[in-house]
Amino acid sequence: MTLLDELRAIAGAPHVLTSDEDLLVYGFDGTWYEHRPLAVVLPSTTAEVAAIHKLATRERIALTPRALGSGLSGGAIPLEGSLVLSIVRMNAILEIDDLNHVAIVQPGVINADLQAEVEKRGLFYPPDPSSLKQSAIGGNVAENAGGARCLKYGVTADYVQALEIVLPDGAVLRTGGKMVKNVTGYDLRALFTGSEGTLGTVTEITLRLLPKPKFVRTAMATYAAIDDAAQSVTAIMAAGLSPTSIELLDNLTMRCVEEFSPAGLPLDADAILLFGVDGNHEAALDDDLRRIEALALANGASEIRLARSQDESDRLWAARRVIAPALARKRPHRLGEDISIPRSAIPAMIARIRGIARERELLIPVFGHAGDGNLHPNILCDRSDAAEMRRVREAAREIFEAAIALGGTLSGEHGIGLLKKQFMEMDVGAEGLRVMRAIKSALDPLGIMNPGKIFPEPGGVDAFEL
Ligand SMILES: Cc1cc2nc3c(=O)[nH]c(=O)nc-3n(C[C@H](O)[C@H](O)[C@H](O)COP(=O)(O)OP(=O)(O)OC[C@H]3O[C@@H](n4cnc5c(N)ncnc54)[C@H](O)[C@@H]3O)c2cc1C
Repeated sequence: MTLLDELRAIAGAPHVLTSDEDLLVYGFDGTWYEHRPLAVVLPSTTAEVAAIHKLATRERIALTPRALGSGLSGGAIPLEGSLVLSIVRMNAILEIDDLNHVAIVQPGVINADLQAEVEKRGLFYPPDPSSLKQSAIGGNVAENAGGARCLKYGVTADYVQALEIVLPDGAVLRTGGKMVKNVTGYDLRALFTGSEGTLGTVTEITLRLLPKPKFVRTAMATYAAIDDAAQSVTAIMAAGLSPTSIELLDNLTMRCVEEFSPAGLPLDADAILLFGVDGNHEAALDDDLRRIEALALANGASEIRLARSQDESDRLWAARRVIAPALARKRPHRLGEDISIPRSAIPAMIARIRGIARERELLIPVFGHAGDGNLHPNILCDRSDAAEMRRVREAAREIFEAAIALGGTLSGEHGIGLLKKQFMEMDVGAEGLRVMRAIKSALDPLGIMNPGKIFPEPGGVDAFEL
């Protein structure tokens, strides 16, 4: 039997894809990379995933787990003749437990679908990547995804109570449960969450849920100088307020959004902040908004406007969510960065990014989850222009160096994947990298799980060139 025959025997013939068209669509993600996989297999059960892992181990074939392919660091790109293991058919919500406030889901459940389902029961799953309609819980767990609401509620890892993982050799590990507290041994849930498909395939996830807040409000503050917006963020958080979200959009980002899908953003402003607040007591929310307004105005906002209807609020958040496609229309390519810095360093970081854009003659719109210091400077470019790409590469390095010098890190939510692996040592240090490599080789001694990701290869190809 050939390898493909064996895969067909495991997952069923219609679930093994080999045509050129299929290999093309499973070969890219939200980045600019494109690679053809060996084949694509779409299992429907944990047993099938385990059988595929055993086969890959026997044949020493690389496996790249894949959910919806919206990743922004190249994690789902199949390198080195990898087999793509797509979990999209494993998309059932297995249980919503109202008493224990947990949901048990398969990895292919789309984030927005889970949110809608739990909200029908008055419950709430907070992590809300802007890609919530285009990304699945498996991908969210593998990248430890964040989103606007993570300022108040924390990221995906804060909601992972249990995982079922098929380890590289096909053994099935279950860790965690419905219990709230659990400090028995090493925290394996934390290890696998954010491991970017390099340690195994996640096949089941138990997620913590919260009661749904009764009231939600949105406000927008307008600034003539982005620095004042950054200062407002620091002042509001330092005052002990706990908004659900504080999102920043600079002028270039707003212009791209308005060209793509007009939302009435103030194009004469240098920047805006979008505030979300939520809770169960309307009077408390009104009070929070009044304090946010006073602090924004005291720190240079020219205006702060409260969304008067659900429609207006939805329009503002929709504008936030279309930034990626809006920027994608401005230039042929974009390098979307994801630095995370201490909040107090936002003004210095933004000044540095603007300086880099000027010096390197590049368009670098900045937006992001300003409340938690997670900024997305996006370097707009054209990969066919070699001279421009040299400047892009320098600009990316300078942005990372600045973030690290300011006490920050390379990635707040998108992960390292292919895109940032050459900068890993600069961030985590030689010892950090040594420990991570030791974990990887203990769990995946043959190196079959998602090779080429996270770890820089000495003398290997620069990921920027792939
Ligand atoms: C428009 C847009 C907006 C975005 N906004 C945000 C945002 O606000 N916040 C944010 O955090 N991210 C954001 N992202 C990035 C992306 O959506 C997230 O990283 C998301 O979690 C990826 O999910 P996915 O289902 O698309 O995973 P994929 O892209 O398919 O995979 C991502 C990684 O997870 C691994 N993986 C997938 N499934 C499994 C599994 N079952 N087991 C083990 N490993 C697995 C893959 O190997 C890969 O390394 C955005 C992307 C786009 C395109």
